[in-house]
Amino acid sequence: MEKIVGLAKRRGFVFPGSDIYGGIGSTYDYGPLGVLLKNNIRTAWWKAMTQERDDVVGLDSAILMSPKVWEASGHLAGFSDPLVDCKNCKKRWRADHLLEAKSAEMAGLREAPVEMKDVRCPACGGELGEERQFNMMMKTFLGPVEEAAAVVYLRPETAQGIFVNFKNAQESARKRVPFGIAQVGKSFRNEITPGNFIFRTREFEQMEMEFFVKPGTDEEWFESWKQFMMDWFTRFGVKADNLRFLEHAKEKLSHYSKRTVDLEYQYPWGWGELWGCANRTDFDLKQHEKHSGQDLSYRDDLTNERYHPYVIEPALGLDRAMLVFMLDAYEEIDGGRSTTTDAVKDIETVLRFHPAIAPIKAAIFPLSKKEPLTGIAHELRNRLARRWSVQYDETGSVGKRYRRQDEIGTPFCITVDFQTVGEEGVPGDDKVTVRDRDTMLQERVAISELESYLAAKLGC
Ligand SMILES: [Zn+2]
Repeated sequence: MEKIVGLAKRRGFVFPGSDIYGGIGSTYDYGPLGVLLKNNIRTAWWKAMTQERDDVVGLDSAILMSPKVWEASGHLAGFSDPLVDCKNCKKRWRADHLLEAKSAEMAGLREAPVEMKDVRCPACGGELGEERQFNMMMKTFLGPVEEAAAVVYLRPETAQGIFVNFKNAQESARKRVPFGIAQVGKSFRNEITPGNFIFRTREFEQMEMEFFVKPGTDEEWFESWKQFMMDWFTRFGVKADNLRFLEHAKEKLSHYSKRTVDLEYQYPWGWGELWGCANRTDFDLKQHEKHSGQDLSYRDDLTNERYHPYVIEPALGLDRAMLVFMLDAYEEIDGGRSTTTDAVKDIETVLRFHPAIAPIKAAIFPLSKKEPLTGIAHELRNRLARRWSVQYDETGSVGKRYRRQDEIGTPFCITVDFQTVGEEGVPGDDKVTVRDRDTMLQERVAISELESYLAAKLGC
């Protein structure tokens, strides 16, 4: 994990937020390569959802919504964590986490269940204060007056923007149930214990899809979306061995959920949540109907049946997905693997990104810093850049340049050399050397065919 965090900062994937001011709790900024990687993951998800399928449409709703939305959804009353403060060192803790830890510690040592009064501050051993509920929604004010009537919340999930637009989207897109609405956007949760780099942050980007189905078909659809989640990650290169499903126990389900299954990933600290799938039933539509007074039922125009659709929700965090793609692609090769003679034999790092996910698709190197090699290389860069994100690099040995690109996961490196342009009396062959990141095989490809060659190999 430390290696990923170090690489992420050094190569411009992820920087600590407000870095020059010493950072601000668990916020991160995405650098030049990070923004490309994030865009590619978002695009891969969006395409698989809304372009390849004809039963899912897109939406982009506002972050600020009527406070009534959060009243209806249950977030105002229920979206909270129980907290306790240490009276001595003032540290703040999640009461339920402390209780769980203490219970585990005392297991088998005594009969009576552990209570909060048995627990002391894990940091200093001090006495803990009264337990109270802390709502995780972030508050701000709409308009110039800071008063109670102007309070709005930064959305804690994108899902509610979808539910309140159910009728708008269904009618305008002329969709019949079953169909889904997908949305990508920022959400905010004032987590007490964020952590593990970009795994859990207070400001994060969600990729959520609410799939509306006829009650009674919900369990079947649940299975199908569960499979979609697994297929999507493996399709883009994440190893199936590092993925598994975890069924949530009935008694631990959220208030709206009939069933929840997590697709889990094997993180460096153990298995953890990656992509959750929940059967939200008709809870949200019925709540919004009650609170808004608007009819949110659906009428099947073929059978004339009227009902409130059930909702299957696969909800994925984009930042967390990015962490998983980086962790899974990361490989260290001890002793190096470069075939070039001047390469230093030490540990080499390769990010084996799927071509669709890789931030840079190809890098172009002139063998020397002189014309006409640099001119041809620049021209190539400009031509390929109309289609893909590519890089030009003329500094250092070719071996060093390969390693620079391997480290950021670039699938192909293209070298313009003296054979390309020819030398005294020897005509050039107008070909370049294309080197494959994973096989390290090198092929001579005609410049005129380079674009179609790359398109076929990249598949994008
Ligand atoms: Zn303390």
